[in-house]
Amino acid sequence: MKALRFENKELKLAEISKPNKETEALVRVLKSGICNTDLEIVKGYANFSGTIGHEFVGVVEEAEDAPDLIGKRVVGEINAGCGRCERCLKNDSRHCPERTVLGIVGRDGAHAEFLNLPSRNLLEVPTKISDEQAVFIEPLAAAFGITEQVEIFPETRVAVIGDGKLGNLCAQSLALKSRNVSLIGKYKEKLSLVEERNIETVLLENAKKLSRDFDVVVEASGSESGFNLALDLLKPRGKLILKSTFHGETKWQAWRVVVDEITIVGSRCGRFAPALELLKNKKIDVESLISEELSLSEGVKAIKRAEQKGVMKVLLSITN
Ligand SMILES: [Zn+2]
Ligand SMILES: [Zn+2]
Repeated sequence: MKALRFENKELKLAEISKPNKETEALVRVLKSGICNTDLEIVKGYANFSGTIGHEFVGVVEEAEDAPDLIGKRVVGEINAGCGRCERCLKNDSRHCPERTVLGIVGRDGAHAEFLNLPSRNLLEVPTKISDEQAVFIEPLAAAFGITEQVEIFPETRVAVIGDGKLGNLCAQSLALKSRNVSLIGKYKEKLSLVEERNIETVLLENAKKLSRDFDVVVEASGSESGFNLALDLLKPRGKLILKSTFHGETKWQAWRVVVDEITIVGSRCGRFAPALELLKNKKIDVESLISEELSLSEGVKAIKRAEQKGVMKVLLSITN
């Protein structure tokens, strides 16, 4: 089968054998989505080697322990735990120290014709959700997951820093809980995508005026400057949600966290089930985030496209 792989520091489309873990389900991938994490892996982050990609929708072809899933259209939780440790026994395989993560840690990913995942990771996709929408489940779950970590009330003042894909989904998710959500970013065109969603949009150069105005600030810009801006925007005793897996050095003013008694919350993944409900009930717009769709055989080009400024989500169609 074809697979988009990062090996020996090189990204290439390779011909490899079909995955064949008998203890796991075999999924034929229909579409996959290129995430910023893929772009970071291609730069060498996580020392990952193998097939990249973790956002997908597919059809189950084999599942020995879950025959009911065969033929079903599914999405998949990307973390696969050991199933035995304390975290796994508490139903939290996302934090299993021995976990593998689809296309990110120790497990071949989704930019391929087929993938393996434990059948317990798979969720059937309701027919009301299109393939294109379903590909957004993982980032949407990650965005909506914030609302399970921090309580957001209708009057809570929330700012999201970063007008990229993740910032957009965070702002839309939080706007389902609060009437006071602002999205802050550099690009007018990107900000305009959420304007009809009851979200205020603010260009970065005007954000300073909002100093100390927010109860909750979500940092989803992926750049170092976002950290200090977040501290500028927070009220004393505010909550700072960190979403960027920024890997460079950060020089941010930790003393301000102490003086203002800020609570910092790291936030990575979220549950898929609530995200599926949101898409099914059309609570979140993901279509406007799609910039382009290419075929898997154009995978290398697709990654290059996704790296360009102004490009939002690039999808790969796997069949045809
Ligand atoms: Zn992702
Ligand atoms: Zn475990």
